Amino acid sequence: MIRVMRPIIVAGNWKMHTTPAESGPLARLIATRTNEPGVRRVICPPYVCLAPVRDALVGTDVAVGAQNVHAEAAGAYTGEVSASMLVGLASWVILGHSERRRDFGETDALVNRKLARATEAGLRPILCVGEQLADRDAGRAAEVVRSQLEGATAGHAAATLIASGLVVAYEPVWAIGTGRSARASEAAAMADVIRHAVAALGWDGAAAADLPVLYGGSVTSANAGEFLGEPSIDGALVGGASLKVDEMAVIVARAGLTARARSAAAR
Ligand code: PEP
Repeated sequence: MIRVMRPIIVAGNWKMHTTPAESGPLARLIATRTNEPGVRRVICPPYVCLAPVRDALVGTDVAVGAQNVHAEAAGAYTGEVSASMLVGLASWVILGHSERRRDFGETDALVNRKLARATEAGLRPILCVGEQLADRDAGRAAEVVRSQLEGATAGHAAATLIASGLVVAYEPVWAIGTGRSARASEAAAMADVIRHAVAALGWDGAAAADLPVLYGGSVTSANAGEFLGEPSIDGALVGGASLKVDEMAVIVARAGLTARARSAAAR
């Protein structure tokens, strides 16, 4: 059995779904139905649901994450939310999600500034990277992902990123919300590319090897096992299926198998 020490994480990205009234009961139900030893669970609801979800999760070990943060600390940015505003509501934050890159023009340079605000505020970042289908077809997937990582982390001290608990989510754009997931072997190969890339960016070898890499893109109860069976993949960032309690129960149960196998191999 391969010895892998990294934690297993299942994060749910609720996107623009649920009202404040619906969100707490749903989060509580998911927490109750997904209580697997060794699996770190994170629920990322819309901003307006952060407080009800946080309150509903009191007494559980499910963490709350935001789906975005503004790149400035404060200022005249109507409708926006800063990192310091999230403190007390969320402990994790998703950065650079492909829907934000696509719909709001987020560039690697902008994600880089958001990463700075998140780490200053003590929020644990889930940095999303992933190529377009044309990039994969042209054999450029690894190059694109390396360049996104480099752009998002340039100027950040490796020690700061490591201390922040940075998690990278590999989310091929063509697999998000499309029902077409990547092959597990492709995702695993990209997880290795990501760890090599951070080593090339100055992380020491052990820290690079310990970087958690999640797969995201049409993960469901039916395919989670393929990804979670790959030693290079440390969990999933789940979109659509994260709103369905039965789906999450199966995905997290499968993640629990991997967590137990890793812990047995480490003994
Ligand atoms: C996501 O929102 O990060 C995601 C992967 O969505 P889906 O699982 O719906 O493809």
